[in-house]
Amino acid sequence: KGENFEACGGSRIMVFVRLRPMGKKERENGSRCCVKVLNKRDVYLTEFTNDNDYLRLKRLRVRHFTFDSSFPETTTQREVYSTTTGDLLEAVLEGRNGSVFCYGATGAGKTYTMLGTMENPGVMVLAIKDLFAKVRERSLDGNHTVHLSYLEVYNETVRDLLSPGRPLILREDKQVMALLQRGNQNRTTEPTRCNETSSRSHAILQVVVEYKTRDGSMNVISRVGKLSLIDLAGSERAIATDQRTLRSLEGANINRSLLALSSCINALVEGKKHIPYRNSKLTQLLKDSLGGSCNTVMIANISPSNHSFGETQNTLHWADRAK
Ligand code: ADP
Ligand code: MG
Repeated sequence: KGENFEACGGSRIMVFVRLRPMGKKERENGSRCCVKVLNKRDVYLTEFTNDNDYLRLKRLRVRHFTFDSSFPETTTQREVYSTTTGDLLEAVLEGRNGSVFCYGATGAGKTYTMLGTMENPGVMVLAIKDLFAKVRERSLDGNHTVHLSYLEVYNETVRDLLSPGRPLILREDKQVMALLQRGNQNRTTEPTRCNETSSRSHAILQVVVEYKTRDGSMNVISRVGKLSLIDLAGSERAIATDQRTLRSLEGANINRSLLALSSCINALVEGKKHIPYRNSKLTQLLKDSLGGSCNTVMIANISPSNHSFGETQNTLHWADRAK
């Protein structure tokens, strides 16, 4: 994985897909599984006829996608962390920047992947634990300082979810899950859908690691690396209007930041010189962590249910274009 980043001049985007297990409600309402992950790479998406009669559902066609890695529903949080983010954390300790995004429809498993639960902590928590373990290992070589900020972008407004005004200096990793859960509860909730929280807000955890030491002649050597971990807003609305331009979306209740991120990623993938970072708050916040010599990772989250077929297909097409 680390080699892949290097071999491509450091600006390739690594794309992963994570399939979540079928939920209890979905099983009860007669959902049928329409996604299979095989060989840790291949994703097969089955389209059924519109027939709602479970016994008479017929297979229409099967589509095949392939990614750097694809995670079946049995994949553990730790496996997801180490495959997608482990190498990137190493690079951050060496003074490089990197970012990991979770992309997908509401309910597809983005927050579970990024934040997780007390019993099954996600990428954000495992990254910070791993970071502190590595910092402790290296404590004799020099001094590390870890700054943390947890931000929300909602309606093109940036809000601090933890400590308004300045980044927090994190001294240990013990309470980090509680800290992030508290931050997550501060996320803006969707006014129109009372049972869905935060489907239009982006949550951005930025971890800045500063390293200072002295060389043989007592000169101070320092380096700074930044890791950005992003739980994106639900992609359902953005995709439905993908064809329109950003301008025509003004006031249309569409997520400008999500579309602007897609534009930046497309520009990066196509090797364009100009990357339109200035088009949204999210891309402005991430311009030093996306593209160039930064490591960029996308995790596309999908549901197995045939009732989410359309959203899953859109997410897979989007992820396929980001490769
Ligand atoms: P999103 O943030 O994309 O809207 P969530 O992360 O909130 O979606 O996931 C929706 C539901 O599915 C939650 O109840 C979550 O706990 C559950 N879930 C998601 N991914 C997994 C997984 N890999 N394993 C077990 N449960 C999951
Ligand atoms: Mg969520």
